[in-house]
Amino acid sequence: MRFLIEEIPIIEQLKKSFYDIYKDWKCQICGIENEDFDHVWLCSENCLILQSIMEDSIFYLMEQLLIDNENFKDDKDLADFHDFWDIRNDPNSFTFIDLIKGIIPLSLSQKIRKFTKKCSTEKIIICLRNYILTQSLERIWKPRCNFVKQLEKDFKLTKKFKKDHVNTMPFYDVCRKGNADNRDTELLGLRHLIYYGGNILEYYNTHVD
Ligand SMILES: [Zn+2]
Repeated sequence: MRFLIEEIPIIEQLKKSFYDIYKDWKCQICGIENEDFDHVWLCSENCLILQSIMEDSIFYLMEQLLIDNENFKDDKDLADFHDFWDIRNDPNSFTFIDLIKGIIPLSLSQKIRKFTKKCSTEKIIICLRNYILTQSLERIWKPRCNFVKQLEKDFKLTKKFKKDHVNTMPFYDVCRKGNADNRDTELLGLRHLIYYGGNILEYYNTHVD
């Protein structure tokens, strides 16, 4: 669920609670880009690992389809599944990043259904989703967390230090300090509603620059 709503402790999320500590932090793996959810997987330092996870996932799915249906021709029918095996961030179509988040597009499940017995479709989809999640966690997310944990230890960013530097005002106000014009583009009123149950119109009326 945390992957699905992108609420994992990436640097851009940490800024929401500890802006003073992390405001200048970039992705600690490449040191160049901001670390949002997509970047964890698309980071240039992780691209070979992600490529390998994707290839292993295709192999895993083909294996499951072959076990279920001996007539499945992996070399021929594999072409039908090509759309989803794409490593990029695209708001207009499903990519492998969506599969990492646990989203199985209807078109993918329909294609799996085409090659499997009715009773096995759901089982294969669940197994595939679990396989991709486990691989992503073990090979990218956990090593990244261990690396950042060690860095925080080196910088003496203890729990107590963080507690002492927690944001003293809601993040949308902290964020506005640095980006005065981003209220509309970042849908801050909507976020305010989701995080704090506030009123969208009230937010815009009371937060006039
Ligand atoms: Zn990076």
